Amino acid sequence: MLATTAHQIARITGGRLVGGATGEEQVTGAARIDSRLVGTGDLFAAFTGESTDGHLHVPGAHAAGAVLSLVSREVEQPAVLVPDVEAALSALATAQLEQARSAGTGLQVIAITGSAGKTGTKDLLGALLSDLGETIAPAGSLNNELGVPLTVLGLTESTRFLVLEMGARGIGHIAHLTAIARPDVALVLNVGSAHLGEFGGIEAIAQAKGEIVEALAPGGRAVLNGDDARVARMAERTSAPVLTWGHGEADVRVADVRLDGDARAVLTLALDRPLERLDGSIVEPGEREIPLDLLGEHQALNAVAAATAALALGLDLDALARILPGVRLASTQRMETIHAGEDVLIINDAYNANPDSMRQALKTLAHLGETRRTIAVLGEMLELGPDSLRLHDETGRLAVRLNISHLVAVGPGALAMHRGACLEGSFGEESEHVPSLEDALPRLLELIEPGDAVLLKSSRDAGLRTLAEPLAAAL
Ligand code: ATP
Ligand code: MG
Repeated sequence: MLATTAHQIARITGGRLVGGATGEEQVTGAARIDSRLVGTGDLFAAFTGESTDGHLHVPGAHAAGAVLSLVSREVEQPAVLVPDVEAALSALATAQLEQARSAGTGLQVIAITGSAGKTGTKDLLGALLSDLGETIAPAGSLNNELGVPLTVLGLTESTRFLVLEMGARGIGHIAHLTAIARPDVALVLNVGSAHLGEFGGIEAIAQAKGEIVEALAPGGRAVLNGDDARVARMAERTSAPVLTWGHGEADVRVADVRLDGDARAVLTLALDRPLERLDGSIVEPGEREIPLDLLGEHQALNAVAAATAALALGLDLDALARILPGVRLASTQRMETIHAGEDVLIINDAYNANPDSMRQALKTLAHLGETRRTIAVLGEMLELGPDSLRLHDETGRLAVRLNISHLVAVGPGALAMHRGACLEGSFGEESEHVPSLEDALPRLLELIEPGDAVLLKSSRDAGLRTLAEPLAAAL
């Protein structure tokens, strides 16, 4: 945080000093909600969650170095008492950003949304922008009304770039987040079927994601996926200049993406005309072939999205070609590769799943089929609403059409995938259903042979991500 006194925090949040706070306490560190992560000079925000009450950890947080807490009931340590800790954190984040902007430090805020790929793109953009200056893009998926203010509150006097992930489960969610952190660059990846059940329809998802371009700061840019018609149409919802990336007529054109023998992407990027940056300077046209340490075409396209924003913020094509090959995703369980046993390649992509990311992961696995036997171990995709059965059935059929060697559908919610695979054709013997996660591990150990490529994928709560480690250890 920018150095702030308890007095200022009380004023910004409409709170009251309690626990013997004098008002002179000065927060110089970050804002934390987990007392175990607290360090010297931090602000500890006490939340009452399902499993624990943060107020119980206020003494521990102060012992670990917190100078002040934000609380919703009285405590004995210096604190600011507010009716709603989450709203107070948001107010504080908004105030800090205003302060940083009016201090003229040149801070730029980049906000990323989309149905799939936000976290990976945030990691990629964070790595690129770090070349230009101090960048905040914390690993993980801090994309909601709590994660966004917490990320903002990591900012210091020397932060140049703040890369934020913004998620939406309904109309107005992104507008709430952009009211906290108005972006200079708003990047929209795609509109797909994640959280379809909650939204009720894909047009509602487009409506919700597009809120991000409506909130651009003056002089800002919208960075849009030209290959996704619903995203491209968001250009109509802002008066800010728009930059696009994609395969067609785009500002940053994907001239080619191919996958090498390990399914790592090799990307050719082309700038057919000069691109004007936010500061008015120009990126000269050109073309570069860039090998990536990322798996699958979809991750390569996320790299192009990040590259487009990075060009607008100061990089040039040479810098992209220099930095991108060394970038790996900082957040795990997204197309994460693990080598195990005798040349077995495990791809853990089970951080989450929806039909779009399933398709991309299966396509990437299928590519490995040129040299390896391919095994897709798939679990339920949650939150798909009334179309859920059909979407699972289609995923099973897709595995067959892509010539995946063997499908293991795990858990009751994945049964429809197995059925779809069997109905699609001759996949009968190559598809199976195991009733639970516990049954999956012994079955996989039986099934997997040297040289196999194994994809693990399901929604987070279906838990297939937890198979990767024990599987790798046992192979
Ligand atoms: P969440 O909403 O859970 O925060 P996210 O948008 O941050 O998700 P990631 O965590 O980056 O997305 O990736 C989630 C999954 O989507 C991974 O399996 C990843 O490989 C896949 N994915 C990434 N980019 C795309 C894309 N452009 N199209 C389809 N799937 C993608
Ligand atoms: Mg995420």
